[in-house]
Amino acid sequence: MPRVLLIGLDGATFDVIRPLIARGRLPTFARLVAEGASGDLKSTYPAITPPAFASMLTGCNPGQHSIYDFFSRLPNSYDFVPSSGGLIKTESLHHIIARHGLSAGVMNMPMTYPPAALPGGYVVAGLETPPRAAYTQPRELQRELEDKFGYRIELDRWYRSGEEQAEMDAILGLADVHRQAALHLMASRPSDYMNVAFRAPDHAQHYFWRFYDPQHPAYTAADADRFGDFIPQAYEACDRAIADLMAAAGPETTVVVTSDHGFGRETKMVHLNNWLRQGGFMRFKGGAMGRLKQTAFELGLAADNVMNLLSRLHLERLFTGVSRTTKASVFSRLFLSYDDIDWARTQAYARGQIGQIFLNVRGREPHGIVEQGAEYTAVRQRIIDDLMRLRDPDTGELIVEGCHVREDLYAGEFANAAPDIVIDWKGMEYWSFDVLSGGRKIIGPNLSTRSGGHQMNGIFLAHGPGIAAGAKLDGANIVDVAPTVLQLMQLPIPGHMDGRVLNEIFRERPAASRRELVAAAPNAYADDDAYSAEDEEAVKERLRQLGYI
Ligand SMILES: [Zn+2]
Repeated sequence: MPRVLLIGLDGATFDVIRPLIARGRLPTFARLVAEGASGDLKSTYPAITPPAFASMLTGCNPGQHSIYDFFSRLPNSYDFVPSSGGLIKTESLHHIIARHGLSAGVMNMPMTYPPAALPGGYVVAGLETPPRAAYTQPRELQRELEDKFGYRIELDRWYRSGEEQAEMDAILGLADVHRQAALHLMASRPSDYMNVAFRAPDHAQHYFWRFYDPQHPAYTAADADRFGDFIPQAYEACDRAIADLMAAAGPETTVVVTSDHGFGRETKMVHLNNWLRQGGFMRFKGGAMGRLKQTAFELGLAADNVMNLLSRLHLERLFTGVSRTTKASVFSRLFLSYDDIDWARTQAYARGQIGQIFLNVRGREPHGIVEQGAEYTAVRQRIIDDLMRLRDPDTGELIVEGCHVREDLYAGEFANAAPDIVIDWKGMEYWSFDVLSGGRKIIGPNLSTRSGGHQMNGIFLAHGPGIAAGAKLDGANIVDVAPTVLQLMQLPIPGHMDGRVLNEIFRERPAASRRELVAAAPNAYADDDAYSAEDEEAVKERLRQLGYI
């Protein structure tokens, strides 16, 4: 049985867990809190699944592991490629454990595709796996899991308003497949360390938050009666899965439960590139706007409808990666694209969902015009000053709480790929969509299928023989997970890790942890191009279904 079982719950938050514990609905979480150590776990900037899980797995900030979003910027270009485990530049926890001669098993963790062989262990890759790809090591494990459990990585349907029950059934069904598969792996391939992730909280909260939260502007009592219990049910599914895995692992195993970010209300979308264009920071080539309007007219689509259409198709993630994979595709012919930006007259552009802004810097971007040094600092500050004055026209309220600049957030060899500005939206209720919608609108309605969004604080829980009962954590960061797990495994901690051992969780504080005096171990499994052909095919297939091509 594993010495350490690390369970990742995508998007889990104590804001939901605590009230459910109080109502007696999460007995396993209640036990973990009472008998173990618990506290908030601060996510990465931005608090998005790929950089957050990459930081959890590596103990490093994005400046070291290089993952900043669902898409990763290629050096010296405006192109972004899908982020995957293959792009992580530092060693992941399971590889460190395997390097020390212990066995490790990983199932469904984001940022583990393409799966790399673990001697004596296994990898079943997670979220970033392209459709129809081989996703396990050893290879035959995929067939075994699919035959036994109908194993799949993600939901096999897309949420549409009016199909709440079917969506919820799919979320719970998927969580149960993952629960069964994890139990099977624990029994059939015992390992010293096991790491499993469940995505049910993230799915349910993105879709169903407005049914759960009376403060959400779209909340209605009638909807809440019908669907308000879906989010609690998603947590109950996790509670059951944790209970089963703990029972199977036995009392000698230390169980660590984490999430990559928290969750809360999400109400509106900011068209950040429209804002940059209206502020004169971005310019389009002549004719681009006319083409967009004509395209939208022909398709019967306004910009918001384009967003909703993309969302229904789950194309938004692929579309934000317009680039190498989709540049030549139908999208850039149909809609305004990054090809339409007049880079010679553009100082800044937005890419990414939380509100990340990149300056068009001479010597860094291919057609950069902002000089490094004083001009860079001045332009960046002007954008920040303007953002701090941005108001929601519906409420008149300021909507930017603050802006972070790259050198305050990131350090390391890959800090140069970071966004120049990361925005803290008011209450994190807003988000930015980087599709070039090209209209006049700056703040618009949210996608019809989304009402919950990410918050900074995820969760950390630990329970086991050496863990102090009832210990409370204060100030834990997601980069602390990897060194803490290594400490629990009594393994040395690589010297390059940014995180610290969360000593306060132990019943008896450990002697100073061992730091390996080695330079940053590179990710031996780096694979920069594991993804793109499959990805483009997935886009095309969905467009074919729509009748666009
Ligand atoms: Zn997530």
